[in-house]
Amino acid sequence: MSKKDITRRKFISTASAAAISAVAAGGIAACGNNNKKSAKLALFGGEPVRTKKFPPWPTADENVVKSIVTTTKSGIWCRIQSKSGTVPTFEKKFAELIGTKFCLATGSGTQALHTALAGLEIGGGDEVLVPPYTDPGSISAILICPALPVIIDVDPESFQIDPDKIEERINENTKAIMPVHIMGQPVNMDKIMNIAQKHNLKVIEDACQAHLAEYKGKKCGTMGILGCFSFQASKVLACGEGGAVIGNDEEIMDKCYTFHNRGTSRKGTTDIGGPKYRMNEFEGAVLLPQLETLEKQSVRRNSNADYLTSKFKDIPGIYPQKLYDGTTRGAYYKYGFIYKKEYFNGVDRSKFLKALSAEGIPCSGYINFRLDKEPWTENLINSKTFRKLYSKERLKRYREENDCPNNNQICNEMVVFSQNQLLGTKNDMDDIINAVLKIYENRDQLT
Ligand SMILES: *Cc1c(COP(=O)(O)O)cnc(C)c1O
Repeated sequence: MSKKDITRRKFISTASAAAISAVAAGGIAACGNNNKKSAKLALFGGEPVRTKKFPPWPTADENVVKSIVTTTKSGIWCRIQSKSGTVPTFEKKFAELIGTKFCLATGSGTQALHTALAGLEIGGGDEVLVPPYTDPGSISAILICPALPVIIDVDPESFQIDPDKIEERINENTKAIMPVHIMGQPVNMDKIMNIAQKHNLKVIEDACQAHLAEYKGKKCGTMGILGCFSFQASKVLACGEGGAVIGNDEEIMDKCYTFHNRGTSRKGTTDIGGPKYRMNEFEGAVLLPQLETLEKQSVRRNSNADYLTSKFKDIPGIYPQKLYDGTTRGAYYKYGFIYKKEYFNGVDRSKFLKALSAEGIPCSGYINFRLDKEPWTENLINSKTFRKLYSKERLKRYREENDCPNNNQICNEMVVFSQNQLLGTKNDMDDIINAVLKIYENRDQLT
């Protein structure tokens, strides 16, 4: 029986001993010119598969350097000084690139998410549905509204919010769904949009990792009423700290502007209270030239990711992120796979990560903490603000419902490579594959 004869679902759930022993381990060809089947692992002093570095991130080419010098010398350092400064120009170009009418730049992705929620007037007493396998910024943006982040467990294969678990959590206070395109690959948006339509909920896409990703040909961030991006240093479009909200509804986008401009509208009247979340012109200057290189980098990451997946599917115990049928393009902020130790003689993920790093392949367990179990949950239940806004009964139920077994499993079994590794050559990808293969074939050394 080959690996593909056993259903994927069965593999992902705790695999039976019989299924494991049925997997044929032999016959997996090494890639490139690495033909050594048995070798000493680098962790124990053997020769590493690779000593070369992967492409660095973030990077500044000549155009980025030129752009920041120009902005520095111009004296236009703040967006309100000029309508043709780097920030307004970036907003126009980014909206065009992603395909919405409007874009509002902010100081971070978290700020973008908070601005989007505020623009939709989500606040005290409201509930927002969000997955736990994400950056803390997704949850934090909801908390500071202050609205209740209702945690929906993830699908164990796609690592994305599980649409089938959403409806049971909807009540009369539910106002929005915040799907997160985790690792930069699209969520099952058809299902999300159907549920949202049926229950009259707003969809705010957390596309902070998903620049240029597409679902059925539509760019991530354009399917919900608002979409949010991050330009933090690690993201695929980076300026240190930065973010953006995109959308087509002028009135809502104007509300977002007013909120992010400490309550002052485009007309100059101060209408509400709000934080000051404006992006500065230096950040705009760093971002603008990168719009020229983003597309090429995205194409490269996608083809390298496809190649990795085509090889990993033959290695027992390695399960790359499942992409939904509608995925026409990923962003690959991370390339993630589930590591099943049952296929590696029970070797813990932490040891696998150490062994892989020793072979010259940077890797990590990514989100190791369980966001659904972090202190914020109890702090929320005990906070003065939330106790005023939500009934005792609601908060009690909140604690009971807040249990995400799939998230727990993913947090324990995830292995990721970073986007900059996917900017390498095919030979670089062969090194990654051969290192994983070497560890698999020499797993006895690890036990
Ligand atoms: C990075 C990120 C955020 C937060 O963005 P910041 O710019 O770091 O504030 C939110 N959600 C996801 C999924 C992210 O990856």
